[in-house]
Amino acid sequence: MNSFQDIWKNIQWNEIANLIFKCNENDVKLVLSKKSFYLNDIIPILSKAAGLYLEKLSQIAQKLTQIRFGKTIRFFAPLYLSNFCANDCTYCGFSMKNKIRRKVLNSEEVLKECHELLKNNINHVLLVSGEHDKIAGINYFSKIILLIRKQFSSILMEVQPLSTQNYSVLKNLGLDGVVVYQETYDIESYKKNHIYGKKRDFFWRLNTPERIAQANIEKIGLGILVGLSDNWRVDCYFLACHISYLRKLYWKSNYSISILRLRPCLNGMQPYSIMTDRELLQIMCAFRIFFPEIEISLSTRESATFRDHVSPILANNISAGSKTNPGGYITSKTELEQFYPQDNRSPKEVSNALKKYGLSSVWKDWDYYLGR
Ligand code: SF4
Repeated sequence: MNSFQDIWKNIQWNEIANLIFKCNENDVKLVLSKKSFYLNDIIPILSKAAGLYLEKLSQIAQKLTQIRFGKTIRFFAPLYLSNFCANDCTYCGFSMKNKIRRKVLNSEEVLKECHELLKNNINHVLLVSGEHDKIAGINYFSKIILLIRKQFSSILMEVQPLSTQNYSVLKNLGLDGVVVYQETYDIESYKKNHIYGKKRDFFWRLNTPERIAQANIEKIGLGILVGLSDNWRVDCYFLACHISYLRKLYWKSNYSISILRLRPCLNGMQPYSIMTDRELLQIMCAFRIFFPEIEISLSTRESATFRDHVSPILANNISAGSKTNPGGYITSKTELEQFYPQDNRSPKEVSNALKKYGLSSVWKDWDYYLGR
């Protein structure tokens, strides 16, 4: 096998959909009685039948989370650098077809945004941009990382997929991690929702986590966007296969996952499938049980109630006070937003709420002077 692409080709979407659909309570109970698992044991836990065992799944997930990570949760926030995008995606406010005001932050604006984040105790930052190589490409990212490196405990980025060589450049400048969601592993749905631009290249994106790992980047974030395909359970199975593959080959990197549900945005499409709160918790439990060592992140896409109840069970990273527009922390304007967040509480408010559930907030866990 040369890449996950080869494995992907050998997994039949409809076959997995059928296997998941056929699972019953006995299949779920059998898996839950095991002491160790094969990867395909995750199939019953992704099924509808496992929804009846949510309490049990949550208990197991919480125990595993606390053994591995304690009762802590790390706070981070996105910093949107640019909303220029050369792609047309059906579900995103930054799509090139949308006639919105476009902006890319200059150095001075980035520093002001960082100042606001640090004022709110945010020491872990996720740099985000639309995908536009000419306006926000490798030179721009290099400049920004150099500019802010010393200010944060960690810097992750979620931008267009890059080459291994460019990831190496950014790693040497101090980049700690890269988040790249496949969105959906169903190539037909992928093409339907990525109408124009480089992002239409399904395999370039699918092979991105490997390029990141080959550049020895420490953290790699994967995930799916629920609502793009008509069967999110199958997407979750592919995600599990992807992580399993990467962990075997690139064991030096750490992995995190996010299961994102579509949020409304300017001219956004209607989801092809819906995942309820209970189902989202079930799926997150499945990943915790099968991959106890990977981190699970929760974004402000989810409601305050959901985040407060689910974080103590299994979340490792939580964003708070997020603005999804470039310059969002220093302006009150929202018309450039990528999507509309649900939980608009400040980091302090979220931290106070989680404290009631026994969680200690981790704001800063590293400093630049300690080296990397
Ligand atoms: S999802 Fe990403 S690539 Fe697609 S339009 Fe939005 S910012 Fe651009």
